[in-house]
Amino acid sequence: MSERKCWIDHSGIVLDSVDGFDVIQCESCGFKHIIPIPDEDELEHIYKHEYHVKDKPLMLQHQLEDQDWHAATNTARLETIEKLLGRKGSILDVGSGNGFFLKQAVEQGWQAKGVEPADKAVEYCRSIGLDVVHSVFDQECAETIGKFDVVYLWEVLEHLPDPAGLLNLCRQVLNRGGLVVVGVPNDYNKLQKIMVEDMDEKPWWVTPPHHINFFNRNSLELLLRRLDFEPLHHEITFPMELFLLMGKNYRQNPELGRECHAMRKELELNLTRTDNRDVLDKLYNSLSEAGFGRHTVIMAGKKD
Ligand SMILES: [Zn+2]
Repeated sequence: MSERKCWIDHSGIVLDSVDGFDVIQCESCGFKHIIPIPDEDELEHIYKHEYHVKDKPLMLQHQLEDQDWHAATNTARLETIEKLLGRKGSILDVGSGNGFFLKQAVEQGWQAKGVEPADKAVEYCRSIGLDVVHSVFDQECAETIGKFDVVYLWEVLEHLPDPAGLLNLCRQVLNRGGLVVVGVPNDYNKLQKIMVEDMDEKPWWVTPPHHINFFNRNSLELLLRRLDFEPLHHEITFPMELFLLMGKNYRQNPELGRECHAMRKELELNLTRTDNRDVLDKLYNSLSEAGFGRHTVIMAGKKD
């Protein structure tokens, strides 16, 4: 029988234990997360000063190399957002990083603002003329930043001690009829489980204290519904774990990782350039239904 653990008001069966943290299937939260949950101030320091410098030093360089692909991906995503909203409007990108989504939004005629804690990322965004507030997105920031039609959260919720609290702040800055767009890693998926249970890999996606929460399509949808958001659209990104099963173990080898990423990029750019993006959507929709995908993305409407 699996061991159960409790921490403050979080409890559930233990799925993995890494570096002094346990991942539990939390019964009160409805999604998986580590316990103990790291301290908010300690995390703020990491994301302000260390994340882009120490943990992801090549992120900007790689993003610049991949500009075409970022543009194609973000264009498609913005078109979907526009369809759901019925028009273009204003977007707040929370955790806007190096601003690739923001830049695309501005180019496509959206009013776009970012909020980002990392010094380096804010400096870069401002150097290319993007409007970014240098801050964590907290209550004080939410009260002063204005109102928006869309709040975009890409790879944010998995890093936070209180993802429900952040989604409530998003509600607060959304206009009536607004949308929240949430993209998170799709973890503990079937392909990852095969690698661990049948092929002797370690659960490499458990990286405390950076990733605190682990979502999939169902648990993210549940969280959004609980907070009065109505899921309207699902997306995934390419299930990168397929490369692991094809013998390309990119996990310990960043160069191989870039090679695998280049192959996925090629697939998506070829289908974009040949005006076959609908084929990509069909392929990914069927994978999404079956629970696959490196990320799960949900676009949800704010219920009034
Ligand atoms: Zn919990």
